Amino acid sequence: MKNIDDMKRINYFIEKLKPRRCAVIGGGYIALEMLEAFKTRDIETHLIHRRNDLAQTFEKETSNIIKEKMLAEGIILKLETAVNALEEKNGHVIVKTDKEELQYDFVLVATGVVPNTDFLKGSAIELGIKDSVKVNRYLQTNYDYIYSAGDCAETVNMITG
Ligand SMILES: Cc1cc2nc3c(=O)[nH]c(=O)nc-3n(C[C@H](O)[C@H](O)[C@H](O)COP(=O)(O)OP(=O)(O)OC[C@H]3O[C@@H](n4cnc5c(N)ncnc54)[C@H](O)[C@@H]3O)c2cc1C
Repeated sequence: MKNIDDMKRINYFIEKLKPRRCAVIGGGYIALEMLEAFKTRDIETHLIHRRNDLAQTFEKETSNIIKEKMLAEGIILKLETAVNALEEKNGHVIVKTDKEELQYDFVLVATGVVPNTDFLKGSAIELGIKDSVKVNRYLQTNYDYIYSAGDCAETVNMITG
């Protein structure tokens, strides 16, 4: 789920096939937003997440509040559960976890993003942390007339520097 076209495809799938049961894999912002969206469409919604807390960007207290709210809304939480494989069977998705095998009408994987910089590999532009474009605090790459910003570039944390 990256852009409006993806959203339209998911929406079309829900309207056309009327799925009854789905899983969202991951515990970050996008996973949570999608959980809410599916739940409000009256789909039985499960969250499968390998950690006990939600994304590390949430403090433990916040994570606990969100989990309580999700349970109250009827979302089924499968925490500390690692997904090992996804398989298609008779029009359903089989999710093989380290604990059990589960079956859903569809699954949304929201386990994070990586910088889309493959096209720069082997070029003269230097890559840095996790293959993001290496920049200084003015967002200049190793070529001072080429800048990089956004999800593919390194950033300076405003708080920690
Ligand atoms: C579901 C979802 C919800 C989000 N919600 C929020 C939110 O609430 N608040 C928030 O701050 N952020 C949110 N984000 C994150 C936010 O969308 C991104 O951080 C932001 O879009 C990054 O902008 P960008 O310009 O770096 O990359 P993008 O918006 O991804 O744009 C990159 C563009 O480059 C193009 N491109 C890629 N490779 C090439 C190439 N080789 N040549 C030419 N063009 C290329 C792509 O087609 C794309 O158009 C959300 C993201 C998602 C997926």
